[in-house]
Amino acid sequence: MNDATNLIANDAKTIVQAHLDQLGEMKAHHLSPELKQQKFKAIQQELEKQNAVLVAHYYCDPEVQELAELTGGCVSDSLEMARFGRDHPAKTLVVAGVKFMGETSKILSPEKKVLMPTLEATCSLDLGCPVDEFTAFCDAHPDYTVVVYANTSAAVKARADWVVTSSCAVEIIEYLDSLGEKIIWAPDQHLGRYIQKKTGADMLLWDGSCIVHEEFRARGISQMKALYPNAAVLVHPESPESVIEIADAVGSTSQLIKAAQDLPQETLIVATDRGIFYKMQQLVPNKTLIEAPTAGEGASCRSCAHCPWMAMNELDGILQVLQKSDQEVFVDAALAERAKMPLDRMLNFSANLKP
Ligand code: SF4
Repeated sequence: MNDATNLIANDAKTIVQAHLDQLGEMKAHHLSPELKQQKFKAIQQELEKQNAVLVAHYYCDPEVQELAELTGGCVSDSLEMARFGRDHPAKTLVVAGVKFMGETSKILSPEKKVLMPTLEATCSLDLGCPVDEFTAFCDAHPDYTVVVYANTSAAVKARADWVVTSSCAVEIIEYLDSLGEKIIWAPDQHLGRYIQKKTGADMLLWDGSCIVHEEFRARGISQMKALYPNAAVLVHPESPESVIEIADAVGSTSQLIKAAQDLPQETLIVATDRGIFYKMQQLVPNKTLIEAPTAGEGASCRSCAHCPWMAMNELDGILQVLQKSDQEVFVDAALAERAKMPLDRMLNFSANLKP
């Protein structure tokens, strides 16, 4: 890790710390079934009135995912969210996720109004890859193809040749490697290392990480596996290498949900944000899902397997933004045009991949 990157990582940690401390004070209240229905009804009416659709990520809280499904919206990973928002005829997209997802929606659908329950919801990967430092890094390696993960700002995407999500990253890097290209990969170091190992590609890795997945530990998961010897371990590749090594299935959120359906094991230990349990359990109602432990034995977890920024997407925020339109996503037009190129490349490439 060089000095500049060290500084970025420290800055990101400070910001994350502030968010996590704040979250401790605003912990989720209990939502009674009656109150939930009232909120659902009020939001549904606003969505219809404004020709709007709710697009939610698997890591949002269960009631947000439930609402998106109930109102004809979408619950998915970031790749599918991008596609759904782009292709849906609604005039307004309400994106329940984190900032880069709202920006991606706006870039792909500039004619639509894109709202988010809060523009404060961001991502440690995005924070850990500021555009100035990243541009300098790319400029220092002009013969490298720049591939960035979707979890980046519009400005970083605009500096990239390709954008990828974890659903299509391996295939895209394999393709670029087959062309003999050397690759700059940013920002998630664990996912980058996983892909590098899998494809053998020549990759220079940025050293960002996800504060949720980084907390999973191989030791804790192995101890849990000893308690449930017949369980399969499902791991998102933003997790550390030692955790990936003990997995029965490694993949993006959509790929892990599919693995839960396809694997013969009846018990599954799942190492990713616990928001995924809503959709996964829906699709494997007879299987037992267990949260993988975070931060090792005896240690206190920081994110506790739930992204603090995803948790900021609440029903009240969704209703409020529909009523006030005060959390609208804007992306500079010239920047959006440049960022759209690597995004379109990804969408076109992944359209030909098998689901
Ligand atoms: S779970 Fe990790 S990668 Fe996803 S938005 Fe949160 S911090 Fe970013």
